[in-house]
Parts: sequence; C-alpha cells; structure tokens
Amino acid sequence: MEKREQLYEGKAKKVFKTDDPQLLIVSYKDDATAFNGLKKGTISGKGVINNRMSNLLMQYLEKKGVPTHFVEELNDRETVVKKVSIVPLEVIVRNIAAGSFSKRYGVDEGKVFDVPTVEFSYKNDDLGDPLINDDHALALGLATKEEIELIKKYALAVNEELKAFWSECGVTLVDFKLEFGRLDDGTIVLADEISPDTSRLWDSKTGEKLDKDRFRRDLGGVEDAYTEVMKRLLQHI
Ligand code: ADP
Ligand code: UDP
Repeated sequence: MEKREQLYEGKAKKVFKTDDPQLLIVSYKDDATAFNGLKKGTISGKGVINNRMSNLLMQYLEKKGVPTHFVEELNDRETVVKKVSIVPLEVIVRNIAAGSFSKRYGVDEGKVFDVPTVEFSYKNDDLGDPLINDDHALALGLATKEEIELIKKYALAVNEELKAFWSECGVTLVDFKLEFGRLDDGTIVLADEISPDTSRLWDSKTGEKLDKDRFRRDLGGVEDAYTEVMKRLLQHI
C-alpha cells in the first residue's frame, strides 16, 4: 500500500489517494472545530484516539452485519478505507434530547425519548448543514428512496448495537452523527468516523460529558474525557 497525493484536508482528517484507486488513506488530526468552523482549537492526542476508536467500532459493527468502509489500521493516526462517494447527508440518531434538538424545539437536555429519532442534515458547509427531510433529500437528488430507507435502517441498527455496547462501558449514548457512501457498484456502506467528536457520550452514573461538548462549551478536561472514554471502550471491546 503506497500513500499518494493528498485529495482533501477537512476539519478533522486528511484524505490521501493510494496506488489502489478503490482505497484511500485517512489521517486523523488533533484539530478541533465547532459551530461550523467558527471555534477552532486543538485536542492533544484526539487524532490517535478517534482513529483507534472509530476502527474498533466499525469492526464491531461489521460483525453485527453493518457494512463499513474500514479496511486496515496502518498506524496511530492512519487507516486504509474503501473509497466511497459520500451521500451528502449527516445522519443523526438521538436517544436523548441535547444540542441542536434541545435548542430548536425548546426541550431540556436529558429528556429521554421513548423511541430513537433519525434526522438528516444536508452536508453543505456553505449552507451551514441545514436540517432536511426525506422528501427534500429526494428532491435535491442526494439519494434514492431505496438508499434513504437503507440508510435509516443501518443508522437504527448502529444505534441499537452502540447503545448496548456503550452501556456495558458505563456510558450513555445520547446521540451521534453518521455518514454513508456508495462503493463503485452502488453498495451503501458506513463511512467517515464514529468517535467522541461525532457522538454525545455521558457517564451513566454521574452524567458527566465525555465528548466534544467539553470543547464546544469550554468545560475543560477535554483530553481527559477522550482518554477516559477510550479506556472504557478498550476494557469492553
Ligand atoms: P469535514 O469534511 O467535515 O471537514 P473531515 O475532516 O472528517 O470532515 O474530513 C474527512 C472527509 O472525508 C469528509 O468530507 C468525509 O465525508 C470524507 N470521507 C469519509 N470517509 C470516506 C470514504 N470512505 N471515502 C471518501 N470520502 C470519505
Ligand atoms: N454532529 C457531528 N457533526 C456535525 C453535527 C453534529 O458529528 O456537523 C454530531 C454531534 O457531535 C452530536 C450529534 O451529531 O453527537 C447531534 O448534534 P446536534 O444536531 O445536536 O448539533 P450540535 O449541538 O453539535 O450543533
């Protein structure tokens, strides 16, 4: 596997071509952003934790029947993934009200839902990732009806698996964001990452936030929270 030119540098990762046109290398950075890039900072060691955690969770999900882009972890920060054409939807699953849901609908953070919710944002930084519904995604040609149904099915399956897994670690899975992509043959697979950058994780006993909200809200102890949640994952995976 040979690493070739950089294709893209995002807010949290760099993406490189390889000598195989079907494969990419993603490299996880310590850079952190919030509020659509308005707030910038560094979370020391984050890239290493997110790379490891995302890979372990993707492998766990593969075993449970969810296809993913994961191929091989190369080192601390770099992983080989299947190249996909990203479906430009941020797929957000929620078990408990928090963040933009609480703000938008005037609901206290911490309200537990009877059933999980799935929502989509249109992945478009210039527009600020606006909330959209299935019909809008169809009208915009972002995905087909069948793809949207499959994506929702996978998202809810991921939620059930991760909720149970995190619960064993003494962590409550509040909400998270997924991205899906299409392989060359059109197969939909889970892509991007699953990490404390993209999930809300609360200590089940104390309610302490163990995720990127510590950075977003200037709560301090950001590195410690990422380290703690990784430690717990490693004890249970
Ligand atoms: P952002 O683009 O939001 O700043 P990142 O810094 O995480 O996010 O950049 C990673 C980019 O790579 C994202 O745009 C993501 O959609 C994309 N990506 C993730 N997995 C794959 C994959 N398997 N194939 C192609 N692109 C991917
Ligand atoms: N999320 C994400 N990327 C985004 C937006 C949200 O990873 O661009 C994650 C976020 O970390 C949280 C979940 O999706 O776990 C729901 O986020 P929310 O809509 O509440 O938005 P936020 O409060 O982060 O603006």
